[in-house]
This record gives sequence, structure tokens and C-alpha cells, in this order.
Amino acid sequence: MTDVQSMLLAGNWVKDRPLAPVHDPATGQVIAQVPQGNRDDVDAAVAASRAAFESKEWRTMDPAQRARILQKLAALTNAKAAELALLESRNNGKTLKEAMGDVRFAAWTLEYFAGWCDKVEGRTIPVPGDRLDYTLQQPLGVTAHIVPWNFPVQLAVRSIAPALAAGCTVIAKPASLTPLSLLAWAKLAEEAGLPKGVLQILTGPGAEVGGRLSAHPDVDGVSLTGSVPTGVEVMRAAAANITPVTLELGGKGAHIVCSDADLKKAAKGICFGIFMNAGQMCWAGSRVLVHESLHAPLVEAVKAEAAGWKIGPGQEDGVRIGSMVSQGQRKSVLGLVQKGVEQGAKVVLGGTAPADARLAAGAFVEPTILTDLGATNACWQEEIFGPVLSVMPFANVDDAVKLANGSQFGLLNGVWTKDLSTAHKVARDLQSGMVSINEYPVTFPQTPFTGWKKSGIGAEQGRDAMSFYTRTKNVNVNLG
Ligand code: NAD
Repeated sequence: MTDVQSMLLAGNWVKDRPLAPVHDPATGQVIAQVPQGNRDDVDAAVAASRAAFESKEWRTMDPAQRARILQKLAALTNAKAAELALLESRNNGKTLKEAMGDVRFAAWTLEYFAGWCDKVEGRTIPVPGDRLDYTLQQPLGVTAHIVPWNFPVQLAVRSIAPALAAGCTVIAKPASLTPLSLLAWAKLAEEAGLPKGVLQILTGPGAEVGGRLSAHPDVDGVSLTGSVPTGVEVMRAAAANITPVTLELGGKGAHIVCSDADLKKAAKGICFGIFMNAGQMCWAGSRVLVHESLHAPLVEAVKAEAAGWKIGPGQEDGVRIGSMVSQGQRKSVLGLVQKGVEQGAKVVLGGTAPADARLAAGAFVEPTILTDLGATNACWQEEIFGPVLSVMPFANVDDAVKLANGSQFGLLNGVWTKDLSTAHKVARDLQSGMVSINEYPVTFPQTPFTGWKKSGIGAEQGRDAMSFYTRTKNVNVNLG
């Protein structure tokens, strides 16, 4: 009998719904069951969230007290980091070390946004006549947070923390494949003293639960981190009520490795940017544009570095590439590699599941490097969401920037050079919400995480997130 988890609805832990199994992708075993929330549950959650918002217990609390609760939640998240990380690693397949990093980042995000609680200020605006004009920055209201499976707890907290800091109430929906860490974390939120109904976690099918949350007329804002097709659905559903959305969607990050780059450092950063989390990252650096003089040595350096990335179950010592999240995800990755090869790409490393019989039940994929592809190759254009790197030479930096920009996505791109002027010019000209120079990938709770083009709308993290979760009211006073 596997563990039956409950979802958090209107302040109650509820499990009397049809159950869905949750797997450990490294072994294929069922590790828990979760209730399948439905459309009625969403309606009940929205009503409870509205009541919690209107009760003023949270939004008009002394903001310093709200900050203390978020700080306590951060401390509890850190105190339970090992437990949360183990759950995350078992449910998602990622390594324990990666899962630990995710949980620590979530705690750091809570600490950062706790600091914002009492710093959301309005303005006074000079206007003609005997008047006073000022703005109020007020919480957005009832907010929905739809979360993907690749960084389940970290990406949930990334959008929940600023919403709570702003005084909003929150309904979060984890991905069906990976609900466990967020459910466990919500227990810590209760312990930290979050009033009832301020945070709810609904499990269940994306189209039904996420779809209803996006379309609900009493939801004031929706944050989705997920794929482009889901982003289109969420935006379309939200449009009917003019509900604002933040969408953090896919990516196809490119590195530009200039002729003066530090090859060893670049190879390390490139591997980190594509093999971490088994490549299941929106901001993965899945394309490398390398100066033609360095093409062969860079491919060799990346191959040598990749040799140190041991594959295996996430909880095993020394493992750096865990299982992909599901067999379906592996099939999709290997299918795209196959398509790329049919279109002319050459596999110089990996390209398959590992031969190790011990790993046969899991969803593992070898670190893979492709060369000899053109800019229209599927592996160059499509988001693979696996440990697959495509490498292409360039003759001059302007061409490299054009090739990097020749993508429907614009999330994170990287530049490797010792020349300051080249670095900043390329950063200026790349069409992406984020650029990283001489390291990859990196972000902080205080810096905007934002995509251009089909990578999304709006920004998570930093002060930009606080703007989304508050709204401006202008007040004009006639003093006469
Ligand atoms: P997904 O779009 O399949 O699912 C994301 C979430 O949306 C899940 O909770 C899912 O249940 C829900 N959902 C599914 N259909 C829905 C609908 N019709 N209406 C509302 N919600 C719905 O994405 P995924 O497979 O979980 O995650 C991978 C994708 O997420 C990749 O494309 C990746 O690039 C993207 N991603 C982006 C970022 C970022 O910050 N830009 C970060 C991580 C992942």
C-alpha cells in the first residue's frame, strides 16, 4: 500500500477523491498516490482564497509581521532541506545534490521576498492646482500558480514568495508527475503561521485544474511556468476575464564562444548548462556557437568534461546525471535526436539510453553532443528538454549573434570571451531576457528571470515580481 498524500483545500487536508499514482522515474516504482482535484475543487479553492484575501488577516497584517512569517518559513525550509531534497530526488529523478540546491534556493527566495514586505511604496506626483496626488501599491488579490515538473519546489516558491510578500493569497497547482515536494513544503507554511486559506495546493490534471484556475473570473492573476502550448492555453483562458498572466515558458539558449575564450572554463560551463538536471531546463544552453578556430578543441574539451558526468539513480554517490522525469520525456528526447540525425546531424557523444542493465527500468539518457547540423535542423530549433547539446562553428561574431537570435525563444544566452567590449556588445545585441558572460547558467532571487519572444511574458524574481503581485491605484485629493 503506497502512501496516500492529501491536497490542501480551504485550510483542510483532503484526499477523498480518485487517486493518481506518483512514480520514482529512476525505478518506475509507484511511491505515492495523490487526489485528483477537479473543477469544483478549484471553485471551492478560489472562494476560500477570496475569503482569506478579504478577511484582511494577511494583507493588512503589519508588513513586518508578514515578513517574520516568511522568514520563519525560509528557516523551516532550510531545516527540512534534507527531507525535502530526498523527496524531490525520488519523485523527479534529479540528483540529491541538485535537489538540495533547489530547496536551498527556495529558502533564499523566501528570505529575499520577506525583505520586500515592508518596502512596497507608492509615489506622490506633482499635479496642477491645490491638490495632492499619490499612488497606493496594493496586493493583486487571489493568485494562481501553475508549476512544471523540472524544479517542482523551487519554481513553485519562486512565484509563491513574492505573491505572499505582497499580501496576495495563493492557489498553487504542482505538475501531475511531481506533486510531492510542494505538498510537504505546504505543511511547513502552516507551521510558520500562515493564516488558513492564504496558501492552498491543488493536485490534479493540468487541463482541468490549471485550465479552470486560468479561466476563473475571480482569480486576479496567473503565473505559469511551463511549455509554450500550455502558455497559449493559459493566456487564452485568462484573456476572457482580462486576467493578467506571467508566463515563463521554453528556451533554446545559445553559447557564443569567441576565439579568445578560456576553453576549459567554457567547456565546464557548457556541460553544467546542458547536463545539469539531465538537461530538463528552460534555460539550458542547448546550442553552442564556437569560433571556427576552436571548434575541434572545444568539442574535445566538452567530451572530456562530459566523461566525468556519471549517470545513475539520483540518490547514489557521485552521480551527476539522474533519470529524466518519465519514460515519455525520454522517448521525446531520443525521438528528437533521431529526427536531427535524419536531417544530417552527427552524434559525437551519447545519443542513446545507457547500456548499463542496472539502469534499464529508469528513464536515463546519455549526455549527447551533436555536430554538423544546419540552422534549420530540428535539434537546433526545437526545445529538446534533455541532455543534448548541438555545436556549430562561426566565422565572425556578428554571424554568431544572428544565428543565436534565429530562434523562436529568447530566455538565456551565454558569451565566452576575455574581450570586455565584445562581451558587452554581444550582450546588448542578443534577443533574450537574460545573458550570462563567462559562466552559465546563473540566477539569483534578486535578479529578474525573464524571457523574450516565445520564452514568455513578464518576469519572476527580483523587484519585477513584486510589480506583478501588486497593482497601482492613483488617488487625487482636492485640498481646496
Ligand atoms: P507543461 O506546460 O506541460 O505543464 C506545466 C504546468 O501546467 C503543469 O502543472 C501542468 O499540469 C499544467 N497544465 C497543463 N495543461 C494545462 C492547461 N491547459 N491549462 C493550465 N495548466 C495546464 O510543462 P512541463 O512539461 O511541466 O514543463 C516543461 C516546460 O516548462 C518546458 O517547456 C520548459 O521550458 C518550461 N519551463 C520554463 C521555465 C522558465 O522559467 N522559463 C522553467 C521551467 C520549465
